[in-house]
Amino acid sequence: MKTLRLLLGDQLNPEHSWFKTVREDVVYVMAEMRQETDYAPHHIQKVVAFFAAMRHFAKERIADGHRVRYYELNDPENPQTLPKLVEKNLKEAGCDCFEYLLPDEFRLDQQLKAICQELRIPARAYDTEHFYTPREALEEHFRGKKQMVMESFYRMMRKKHGVLYDHGEPTGGTWNYDAQNRKKWKGSPPIPEITPPHQEDLGPILRQIQESGIRTIGRIDLRNFHWTITTEEARTLLAEFCETLLPYFGDYQDAMHTDEKTLFHSRLSFAMNSKLISPREVVETVETYYYNHPDTVHISQAEGFIRQILGWREYMRGIYWKEMPAYAQRNSLHNENPLPDFYWTGQTKMNCLKKTIDQSLESAYAHHIQRLMITGNFALLTQVHPDEVDQWYLGIYADAIEWVQLPNTRGMSQFADGGIVGTKPYVSSANYIRKMSNYCQACAYDPDQKTGAGACPFNALYWNFLDAKKQELQANPRMGMMYRLLEKKDKKEMDALRERAAAIIANPDAF
Ligand SMILES: Cc1cc2nc3c(=O)[nH]c(=O)nc-3n(C[C@H](O)[C@H](O)[C@H](O)COP(=O)(O)OP(=O)(O)OC[C@H]3O[C@@H](n4cnc5c(N)ncnc54)[C@H](O)[C@@H]3O)c2cc1C
Ligand code: SF4
Repeated sequence: MKTLRLLLGDQLNPEHSWFKTVREDVVYVMAEMRQETDYAPHHIQKVVAFFAAMRHFAKERIADGHRVRYYELNDPENPQTLPKLVEKNLKEAGCDCFEYLLPDEFRLDQQLKAICQELRIPARAYDTEHFYTPREALEEHFRGKKQMVMESFYRMMRKKHGVLYDHGEPTGGTWNYDAQNRKKWKGSPPIPEITPPHQEDLGPILRQIQESGIRTIGRIDLRNFHWTITTEEARTLLAEFCETLLPYFGDYQDAMHTDEKTLFHSRLSFAMNSKLISPREVVETVETYYYNHPDTVHISQAEGFIRQILGWREYMRGIYWKEMPAYAQRNSLHNENPLPDFYWTGQTKMNCLKKTIDQSLESAYAHHIQRLMITGNFALLTQVHPDEVDQWYLGIYADAIEWVQLPNTRGMSQFADGGIVGTKPYVSSANYIRKMSNYCQACAYDPDQKTGAGACPFNALYWNFLDAKKQELQANPRMGMMYRLLEKKDKKEMDALRERAAAIIANPDAF
């Protein structure tokens, strides 16, 4: 039997058991397809990063002796869709067996199942050997429970995998150091320059994308292209992260600053999401570094980082597979407004939004709190339809793949899932943004004012949101304090807040 094995663009796991032996009877197929570039407007850096990583991966496998048929984007032979790609290559390579790795996206999972149903030859799916947990992990852990709280899943993962777990106790005596991870960054400690990860000329890939007419968003400067596109580069970045950024990661995890877009964050998400590096390798490297460097890395820094990967990343994947496909339609707060145009341009006087969006357009990157408490917060406060919010997040970040983007956006950020991921909506007035960043210092608006032309828009929007969503949120026990404060507002003040919020929502691009 001769086998055709399909590899998708985010299945670049060099450690996969498929590659342990070179087999003459196996042909691998990979393709840069329009079906993947055109289903959402992606950031140009995201497209370049994926294609560059795929080409490298194919070259490495060929160098190891594997047979790989690779289609570049503008190859006239490129079928551009998955069904045609499989059909053509089965025929051309004379294969009588088809194998693929389980995709992480529901859309592709359905498409591949449909392809296999049409085939008249044996077809089989294999695990990607990337995640700690299978798709059904959450289902199993929370069976019979009403709420699926991340912390419970995370503790189970720490115990099960023996991560930061000594003699039946969490290392350091505490499971979670989140409360210590809320420092504002004021210019020190200094943030070391991280070496750009690679020297390769990505010009030819960029030109091919531009010539193809694919609609992309954002900007690209190849001299400052910082996405890792090989496993080796990802390992170098991880090692540098441990040495220079990990010692402060937890402390400044929630901080934001106009001069520093990545602060102490790792920028490993693209490498992990494309599977160039495994979450296990990242977690084990950080854990070992922590044990070997007790003088420089406190448990709160290591735990804060490991929680994001062993906890949040695996948990989000579990939510996705448990709740799809209905999850992608959820709109529990009945939000219907369009996304403001400035999300695509950065042209707004609100400094926090301007800086976060400009940075996203320039680098295809924003860290978690910028995504959650700046762009996500404003979209929720202005009651934007979650479909529009999803489209933006799915396109703009290099690490955006639906299985992780959707539960973060629709769930954690927009509360459109009605509280599956988060126990309450992440909304705030200017207070939080001022506390955690320096954005307000150079803003056209006054964070202390609630109404009037110069008042920070977040303030009126915040109270207006609570008022408008009373029916959906008032009974939420975690919202009790906010609603008690809302009740104390007199009618005159509330009318003024509602009026200003209505003006902002009607024309957010004027603010
Ligand atoms: C609205 C919104 C949308 C998001 N969309 C995506 C997305 O499309 N793709 C994506 O990978 N992450 C997404 N996240 C999570 C998080 O913002 C990014 O993983 C992180 O900013 C990537 O930067 P980093 O690698 O420097 O992360 P670090 O801060 O260094 O964290 C280390 C790693 O932890 C993982 N991680 C951290 N937080 C989360 C989380 N909430 N869910 C899953 N993994 C997490 C990531 O793999 C990340 O690389 C989103 C968050 C929000 C609030
Ligand atoms: S004042 Fe308001 S709009 Fe301006 S940066 Fe602060 S929070 Fe953002």
